[in-house]
Amino acid sequence: MIKQAVIMAGGLGSRFGNRTHAMPKGFIEIDGTAMVERSVRKLIAAGVEEIIIGTGHCSEYYDELAKKYPCIKTVRNDNYENTSSMGTLEVCAPFVRDSFFLLESDLLYDSIGLFVLDNDMRKNLILASGKTNSDDEVYLETDSSGVLCNVTKDKVSVKNLAGELVGISKITKSFLDKMVAFYERTRAENAKIDYETVFCRVAKEEPVFVRRIEYYAWTEIDDEAMLERAEKLIYPRIKENESLRDIRREVLLNPGPSTTTDSVKYAQVVADICPRELEFGNLMEEVSIGLTEVCADTKNYVTVMFGCSGTGADEAMISSCVPPEGKLLVVDNGSYGERLAKIAKIYNIDTDVFKSSTYEPIDLEALEKQMQSKKYTTFAVVYHETTTGLLNPLDKICPMAKKYGMTTLCDIVSAYGGMPIDLDKLDIDFATSTSNKHIGGMAGIGFVVCRFSELMKQKEWPMRNYYFNLYDQYQYFKKTKQTRFTPPVQTFYALRQAIIETKNETVEKRFERFSECWKIFVAGLKEIGLKMLVKEENQSRFITAVLFPENPKFSFNGLHDYARSFGFTIYPGKLGNIDTFRIANMGDIKPEEMRRFVVVLRDYMHSIGVC
Ligand SMILES: *Cc1c(COP(=O)(O)O)cnc(C)c1O
Repeated sequence: MIKQAVIMAGGLGSRFGNRTHAMPKGFIEIDGTAMVERSVRKLIAAGVEEIIIGTGHCSEYYDELAKKYPCIKTVRNDNYENTSSMGTLEVCAPFVRDSFFLLESDLLYDSIGLFVLDNDMRKNLILASGKTNSDDEVYLETDSSGVLCNVTKDKVSVKNLAGELVGISKITKSFLDKMVAFYERTRAENAKIDYETVFCRVAKEEPVFVRRIEYYAWTEIDDEAMLERAEKLIYPRIKENESLRDIRREVLLNPGPSTTTDSVKYAQVVADICPRELEFGNLMEEVSIGLTEVCADTKNYVTVMFGCSGTGADEAMISSCVPPEGKLLVVDNGSYGERLAKIAKIYNIDTDVFKSSTYEPIDLEALEKQMQSKKYTTFAVVYHETTTGLLNPLDKICPMAKKYGMTTLCDIVSAYGGMPIDLDKLDIDFATSTSNKHIGGMAGIGFVVCRFSELMKQKEWPMRNYYFNLYDQYQYFKKTKQTRFTPPVQTFYALRQAIIETKNETVEKRFERFSECWKIFVAGLKEIGLKMLVKEENQSRFITAVLFPENPKFSFNGLHDYARSFGFTIYPGKLGNIDTFRIANMGDIKPEEMRRFVVVLRDYMHSIGVC
């Protein structure tokens, strides 16, 4: 798995004349997007966590791009005018940790190239294509064992043609170190040497192979003629090829599992691996750290993961975090609070339930009275009651529980990753969530983010549970980098990708996106004349519970089937005797999709005479 990429973008792009006088070549747009930005998106979608861009000419453009994509790190080659791609690669080298993708900045390419390189067993690989007729071909020659031995523009000199250089490679760190060492030795004679020429020299010490895709759709863009060819010929081919791999879009407006990106779906398609391999242990460790970082500081918190749904994580938390003779207080103002209490009772935990309205805010004074009335050791509450869309004010409730000496357990399943959360600030000791809600991964991993000092207290406690024992799961993983039982392997790869995408969008921007979707939906409801269960000011914006219209022709199934035929899935929600349907803003939902859904909803309501 390739986690880093280096883009060499120091060059002047002088063959473009005026156009690139005050702008790097990579910023030339095709179909409204700069070439280099399109490349960055493809790298992120391919699972790359960090993109190092070696800059020079007009480096400020790249620094600006780095603000938009947190995964970008720019490194300036101050001597770009007197060096070439190898000079730029040299300044990037100290930041490379492991095998990486190396790319030129002025490339337009089909993303399948990254997939092909990543899936090839060979460590050092240059991507090549068949004949392009681009008029600027660089030919690659290999020896009898397939190792690169010549890079040249002179086709006549090539005896064993391996293909045309694309400008995308997969390289090990040790190979890069050798390239840099070679450059240092020979700089005095040729400071302007190209990286591909250095490839060829170093291939004598460590083999580089050529991977050819005969009909690969790609082009570099060096001048106006190439740009025109790219726009008319190559870009449409790339677009078509990539669209053939699009997965049918279903917008899930149900409260989880949520809509995922295609890149998260594809991240599951990986080579088989035994989960006891260190490589997979490292992946799980990184995922665990990534999950913590979404809502807490890794200095005080750790994330313990299980193969299960979100309820499994709740069960692990409730059954592990109440001390042997402890007493638990649970807030129940919806199905999920009720579920926490039910779990506690099944484990014979001494439990009191504080019941509160499912659609009105909690009476904090009454809750505090309840907290005072007995010596509770532990407190449990749901952050976002997904039943109704009610958001409980944990910033007030948890500090109150702390005041009475309780450990705080929170189900933050449907808030996590959707809004900025800081567990320490909220006084939360344990928090649960799952891989398939806002974070946007596949169903199958439930996890508990734990305050480390609180988790350690469980070391001496007798086990009340087995599969779901939090401390045991933590301890075993810490010692072995393995889970005690088989983890959902492919789901972990998808979750890794979902974390990368969450970090690049940022949780703040994600909350803005969900808010925008929610506003579009609420405005639509008002126009249609439908009513919501919870007052706007108490809503999370992640779920909107809508009351059934009082119309004899309305049927939930009718609406469900109608919406489904347009690619939208909705969900019912019954609260006592109040009938609602629920619309979620979760995962990869886009404002334009919510706009389309509002039209579908209006058309249905119109057809039965509601509006
Ligand atoms: C979705 C959800 C859960 C977990 O549900 P599963 O179906 O077990 O994944 C738990 N709590 C809340 C608040 C939820 O929204």
